Amino acid sequence: MTFEEVLDSWDGETAVIHRDRKSGAWIFICVHSTLLGPAGGGTRMKVYGAPAEGLQDAMRLSAAMTRKLAVAGVPLGGGKAVIAVEEIPSGEQRRALFLRYGNLVASLGGTYRTSSDMNTGEADMDVIGERTEYVFGRSVGAGGAGSPAPPTATGVFHGIRASLSHVFGSDDLEGRTVVVQGAGSVGSPLAGHLAGAGATVLVADIDPARAQLVAARVGGAAVPADEVLEAECDVYAPCAVGGILSVETVPRLRCRIIAGSANNQLADPEAAELLRERGILYAPDYVINAGGAIALVGLEQLGWSKSESDIALAGIGETLRGIYERADSHGISTAAAADALAEARLHAR
Ligand code: NAD
Repeated sequence: MTFEEVLDSWDGETAVIHRDRKSGAWIFICVHSTLLGPAGGGTRMKVYGAPAEGLQDAMRLSAAMTRKLAVAGVPLGGGKAVIAVEEIPSGEQRRALFLRYGNLVASLGGTYRTSSDMNTGEADMDVIGERTEYVFGRSVGAGGAGSPAPPTATGVFHGIRASLSHVFGSDDLEGRTVVVQGAGSVGSPLAGHLAGAGATVLVADIDPARAQLVAARVGGAAVPADEVLEAECDVYAPCAVGGILSVETVPRLRCRIIAGSANNQLADPEAAELLRERGILYAPDYVINAGGAIALVGLEQLGWSKSESDIALAGIGETLRGIYERADSHGISTAAAADALAEARLHAR
């Protein structure tokens, strides 16, 4: 596939294609929509088979950010950047690459505002911050709000409560069993919130030691990573990888609710309808996992206090309630109801 073909297939506003000659990396910054504000979205660093695949990834992810930020109610449009590298750099080479990348972001004058994503983190955002103010998620020491993972976990927790309320008529976690898949930056604090509220927490990770550690810390139990789909539970909280909900996996599920942070949970669009038919409530991933974006934008750009940020994170539960009601009243999947809400917000402008 050529750049021309990829560009033709996209409905976004602007794509910046930059060749970083010093490292050989290709940098793609995609501004999908500025209808609701300057474009926000993370920078992903990855090795791709061909540069055009990196561009395609940035385009697809930037469109998803438009929907995500519209539903999250923050004054930003959707964007995403990809640094397509030959190999993931470290040390001085990495720092130099992120300084040059910071110059590129600065040159866009705030049309695109970055944050971290796959293979990039707080330290990289600090380096970008040496060259531009248009960066979210710098370390607290460098004047940022730090990692988005803790507020993401808080948002998922509110989302789980709203989902319980919709299914069982009560958001009480006492007596409920939640399987947390992925004991990482989001799954670990989420397990803590759930156990603190009285849930029985089962933790799974492809690294069994990590699952054991988190389970022990919260007074839960570890379960093998390959038994998660069939685990009998009230809530399945995917906090590891995407693509877990497909026409093959949905029939195997033994949960009432799916509510977790993982991105791109639906492997096939039909899986959302299948979940509806099976009576399993699905919290659309980009709605329930927006806590990090909401908190970072609020704290760093909108001047929110911690308590204002906490109120906004609780709003994720309210947004989900609205989506569930819309799905029920229109007889559509929750994923379709979330997309309809995003469209409505974009077209209200
Ligand atoms: P992380 O890398 O810190 O943790 C992921 C954990 O999942 C690791 O412990 C890993 O060993 C485990 N894992 C990987 N594959 C697994 C599998 N098949 N089964 C069980 N465990 C597996 O990542 P994170 O930051 O906690 O993010 C988790 C998910 O949430 C990702 O999909 C990410 O894109 C999404 N997300 C994260 C944030 C954030 O703020 N960190 C925000 C929005 C969405």
